Amino acid sequence: MTKTIDLQVNAKNIADFKRGYPLILKDAIINSDVLTKEGTIVRLIDRDRKFVAKGYHGLQNKGIGWVLTRKEDEEIDFDFFASRIDAAFARRETQFEDLDTNAFRVFNGEGDGIGGLTIDYFDGYYMVSWYSEGIYSLKHHVYGALDKLVEYKGVYEKKRFDTKGQYIDQDDFVKGEQGDFPIIVRENGMNFAVNLNDGAMTGIFLDQRDIRKAIRDKYVDGKNVLNTFSYTGAFSVAAALGGATKTTSVDLAKRSLAKTIEQFSVNGIDYEQQDIKVMDVFEYFRYAKRHELKFDLVVLDPPSFARTKKYTFSTAKDYPALIADTIAITEKNGIIVASTNNASFSMKKFKTFIEQGFADAGSKFKILEESSLPKDFRTNRDFPEFNYLKVVIIQKLK
Ligand code: SAH
Repeated sequence: MTKTIDLQVNAKNIADFKRGYPLILKDAIINSDVLTKEGTIVRLIDRDRKFVAKGYHGLQNKGIGWVLTRKEDEEIDFDFFASRIDAAFARRETQFEDLDTNAFRVFNGEGDGIGGLTIDYFDGYYMVSWYSEGIYSLKHHVYGALDKLVEYKGVYEKKRFDTKGQYIDQDDFVKGEQGDFPIIVRENGMNFAVNLNDGAMTGIFLDQRDIRKAIRDKYVDGKNVLNTFSYTGAFSVAAALGGATKTTSVDLAKRSLAKTIEQFSVNGIDYEQQDIKVMDVFEYFRYAKRHELKFDLVVLDPPSFARTKKYTFSTAKDYPALIADTIAITEKNGIIVASTNNASFSMKKFKTFIEQGFADAGSKFKILEESSLPKDFRTNRDFPEFNYLKVVIIQKLK
């Protein structure tokens, strides 16, 4: 049996864990100072030393670990990991059979029963993301489970915890066959170039799949589209395929130019008919105003936090201003797709930012759609804080 450490839960937090709250917050534990080594299996107990739950110690944001089971006699061993991963695959059976989409999430952390671990599927390749040293130290179980449960071309991994600078030039290949990157994956009939061994990002954010589809199918035919914080231009590709007369993609990162050309090209779109600007979005707003440019649809998908030479942007603080700037360059009856992946505020709060932006601009709006994570990014409905994605599709009325 593996050595476990007992953690005593604060009286006021017992009920949360009993309801299934998965994150072990430092403040919920009386004796968290007994923890030394990440990856240690912990038993949560109450004041009378009665069992509450079992989990592991791993440092991730505000958390010091995750609950794995509320069954006292369940061991945290290979069988545990294999059973959770097997169940996650079973839940996504129809997604594996869908010929139009071969890139999606197959294991979503606490939503599938193991916080700190996600696994994405890219046409036969699996990419495992580790969010703490603690869960990484249990990796042999996860890789063993993948070997047992699925056939794959190859496995890659991302360490999304502080590796003290070791990330530079890291080779993320784990086993199987190496991919010949970029590989081209399909999503609802669109193509996306993906590289699993080129730093922290892969070229596509899988959690925006439903939004790309909505944009392509419902909002852009014959429209002039602006995609801000565009990264590899995935929303621009969806817009062009949906019949947009023109797309403009704006991202500050130099790599975004070549990556966006690549995404257009693998979809047979002539990138020379599109605009790709390597530029600060806030500069672009001023440029667009000066040139009296207006758009029928604008996508806003900023990072939660960004610092450039001139500005610091934080979604929690600056979203209203971002909306107000956008309104100024959006046509009457035009559409704004406002997105954020900031987990620190709720959908309700996000909508207050939108209201504020419209009020500041003296404009009016109507919400057409609201959405959050797609179903492969499984989350527990009782705990919406883990459903970090918030997207609101808005029509500017005046
Ligand atoms: N919307 C993209 C993902 C955006 S990721 C998609 O669907 O694929 C966030 C992007 O914002 C990064 O590519 C980063 O380079 C860019 N970025 C951050 N701050 C910026 C700024 N001030 N101006 C322009 N781009 C910025």
